[in-house]
Amino acid sequence: MRELAAAFLHLLFPVPCLVCSSPLDAQGRSMICGSCWMKVRPSREPFCLRCGWPFPSPQAVLLTPEYLCGPCRERRVYFSSARAAALYEEGGVMRQAILALKYGRKVTLGRHLGAFMAEAAYGRVDVAFYDRLIPVPLHQKREKERGFNQALILAEALSRRFGVPVERKALVRSRSTNPQEGNRKAREENVERAFQVVRPERIIGKRVLLIDDVYTTGATVNECAKVLVKAGAQEAAVYTLARVL
Ligand SMILES: [Zn+2]
Ligand SMILES: [Zn+2]
Repeated sequence: MRELAAAFLHLLFPVPCLVCSSPLDAQGRSMICGSCWMKVRPSREPFCLRCGWPFPSPQAVLLTPEYLCGPCRERRVYFSSARAAALYEEGGVMRQAILALKYGRKVTLGRHLGAFMAEAAYGRVDVAFYDRLIPVPLHQKREKERGFNQALILAEALSRRFGVPVERKALVRSRSTNPQEGNRKAREENVERAFQVVRPERIIGKRVLLIDDVYTTGATVNECAKVLVKAGAQEAAVYTLARVL
């Protein structure tokens, strides 16, 4: 009865797709229509073994020592691997979805995106291998303004699918950083000492998987991985919803 009522309501007030505004069909449990979903570009091999950066061609990989991209050969990388479910493109569907989630407070959309990450995990990251999922924390002030942490919503969806607990008390963002801008160096300086492990006993000896919405230069997750590993985590890996090319 309730379903019938919902279908009827949907006929009267069709819900628009968050990206293209065309009406969603009544069965759709997503907030993004099927044709928009089709436009999401999955991240595909070949990619940098460490950070998941997609190489432009299979030939490019053969010319690359140890199959690592330039930045991964130059910087100190603390995470064991970083993978993303999809590519983040200017004007792309994933970018619009993430903006709607973060600034439009579309928490339900976050659950759909988390479910998408769970589907995309197969063949990319073995989520069940990890002992804890750690959402990249926001500064307390920022989280209060936004009302939620998008990374936590994604982590919770993955936790439901794979049965790995979410750990949200161990790592905090102790310094409020400026919104991320600029090149890798600027971003690295921006997040330096921004994170702190306040409950090391919760992660010591554990394999942790950091969860975030977007991987840009990797400066944020690398800093998180650094403090986690230094505090005694056995391994820190990264899984994000999207990554910037
Ligand atoms: Zn659409
Ligand atoms: Zn790399």
